[in-house]
Amino acid sequence: MDVGIAKRNNHNFVVYNGLRHLYRDSMSGSGRYKKPSRPAIFLDRDGTINKQVGHVGHPQKIELMPGAAQAIARINTMGYWCIVITNQSAVARGLASEDDVRRVNSEVALRVARESGGRIDGFYYCPHHESEGTGAYTVACNCRKPAPGMILAGAKDFNVLLEHSWMVGDGAIDHEAAKRASPSIRTILLPSEYHDGKGLADFYEDSLLLAVERIATTVNRALQS
Ligand SMILES: [Mg+2]
Ligand SMILES: [Zn+2]
Repeated sequence: MDVGIAKRNNHNFVVYNGLRHLYRDSMSGSGRYKKPSRPAIFLDRDGTINKQVGHVGHPQKIELMPGAAQAIARINTMGYWCIVITNQSAVARGLASEDDVRRVNSEVALRVARESGGRIDGFYYCPHHESEGTGAYTVACNCRKPAPGMILAGAKDFNVLLEHSWMVGDGAIDHEAAKRASPSIRTILLPSEYHDGKGLADFYEDSLLLAVERIATTVNRALQS
């Protein structure tokens, strides 16, 4: 199994990374060396890779969206980092623990790997909420989307070329977080009950797989012109 190394970094985020040797070196303070500079396709998790099942929760409840695993395998072969960034305020609300979030993240990575051989290079989650809840996670942070913190952390950890990167998600906040991280990140919005969204993002597609196809053709067209 290539996925599933979990380590905490300094930002309350967790990275699961298939590239174990690179991961170890890039995440330890000393002897740090840079990953190869590449663009990334940043992905939202709930409603983009797996179906939205309310808040939380349980790895058993995870169901991948149709074609999502294939889309991620395609991202891998296209040579982009595949980095997931996800708001998980269920932690702040006291509905889930960070361990629950990590368990769901590894389950998503595992299902993707099983279904298509696809690899998610990193997971970043925000456990905070600015007002909900009563504990230490109830804070205004710079990682909860639409803030750009998770994208910027991923960009730093993976040496991401932001100007050639993309963000795909089913929320307006996904588009907004990307544009705040860098206006040159192009965004694709997927359907969701939370927005009627056409016109919100740079592109609108019906599924993650179609979004990745859109990226492939857009990039190819740019290379040919
Ligand atoms: Mg979503
Ligand atoms: Zn946060």
